[in-house]
Amino acid sequence: MEFRRSEQDLQFADAVRGFALRNLAEGALERAHARSYPKDVARLMAEQGLLGITIPEDAGGIGGRLFDAILAIEEIAAVCPRSADVIQAGNFGAIRVLAEFGSDQQKQTYLSQLLSGDAVIAIGMTEPEAGSAVTELKTTAEPVDGGFRLNGTKVFTSHMSDAAMILAYVRFGPGTQGIGSVLVDRKSDGVSLGKPVQSLGGETWSQLYLHDVFVPEQNVVLGEGGFKKQIAGFNVERLGNSARALALGRFAFDLARDHALERKQFGRPICEFQGLQWKFADMKVELEAARLLLYRAAINADNGFPSAEETAIAKLACNCAGFNAANEAMQIFGAAGYSQDNLIEYCFRRTRGWMIAGGSLEMMKNRIAENIFERRFSQRP
Ligand SMILES: Cc1cc2nc3c(=O)[nH]c(=O)nc-3n(C[C@H](O)[C@H](O)[C@H](O)COP(=O)(O)OP(=O)(O)OC[C@H]3O[C@@H](n4cnc5c(N)ncnc54)[C@H](O)[C@@H]3O)c2cc1C
Repeated sequence: MEFRRSEQDLQFADAVRGFALRNLAEGALERAHARSYPKDVARLMAEQGLLGITIPEDAGGIGGRLFDAILAIEEIAAVCPRSADVIQAGNFGAIRVLAEFGSDQQKQTYLSQLLSGDAVIAIGMTEPEAGSAVTELKTTAEPVDGGFRLNGTKVFTSHMSDAAMILAYVRFGPGTQGIGSVLVDRKSDGVSLGKPVQSLGGETWSQLYLHDVFVPEQNVVLGEGGFKKQIAGFNVERLGNSARALALGRFAFDLARDHALERKQFGRPICEFQGLQWKFADMKVELEAARLLLYRAAINADNGFPSAEETAIAKLACNCAGFNAANEAMQIFGAAGYSQDNLIEYCFRRTRGWMIAGGSLEMMKNRIAENIFERRFSQRP
């Protein structure tokens, strides 16, 4: 077992950090408060080979490892926390499902736009009555001549205002077996957005209404029986969520450390108060333990998708460590950390959201318990 990064990992991380310092350090605070997806950053990252890191070369990607994409999130977030979302969208989310399960035609039409940074894709899974119980989703895909007609509503979808396309989870038939996914062009007839609302994370959320939306047969990514594959792909998304939570926690920790060295109260730097030293020690242990769990899940996944159990353990640990670090960093900063003049409060808001998104902390614990007891626990009454 090796707990050090290899020479190759260090070189890659250095190159990404250099790119971030040259291109993203300036404007990091403004980017954090911008409502829209940073497409300019996506294009720059595409040129640098930071989109499609884990996607095979013959599909237009870089052919790297999932672990490389995790390193990229860490290095980018250390300079510009908001830009880590672009690494997520360009490597971990729906893009990975499309690259793995999409047809050649889907890859040519859609994947190329995502890899160039010209477009972003949203993942429409959650519905008003189907959150944690995602298999209760109601959006239907009825077969018609040449394709399917979709009817349903999706909620809380990241990047919905900027997305050119949506990977929508739909129901072709009853039960979990009946669930699959289709690509929906945002400009299709019958697609509309509801009233915009602001999330705590700073994003604009709008409900997505699908009213008799025609989707051609060739836009089906996973048909009936595809749910298990869809969730296997979603575990990659969860590791991206975990990596960002950890990276933003670390970002806040580093700022708080510098602050504690410089800020003086009662005539001495506040790092000299043991009450604060212990906060730092606790944060460091939590952040490092979570990082090892994240690395384990990513490195073990290099021949495919990460295991559900290792992903759940990593997500739980990273979400908690990231949020706790951001929360404690805010305390250490005092009122200055509560101000939007500073990225601490941004890290606090974003890490809080990831405890709910992509499978809540409680759902991760349910998943871990199933492995402990080696049995499935139905959550239904
Ligand atoms: C920042 C953010 C980004 C998001 N992005 C997307 C996106 O891009 N696409 C998308 O489709 N969705 C997205 N979501 C929605 C997200 O997937 C859901 O919020 C999540 O699945 C939880 O569903 P819910 O909000 O309906 O809560 P509910 O499912 O109503 O849960 C409410 C509470 O009950 C708990 N709970 C529920 N069931 C159980 C159980 N069996 N055991 C123990 N506790 C339980 C939950 O953990 C939670 O604390 C996003 C959410 C957030 C916060």
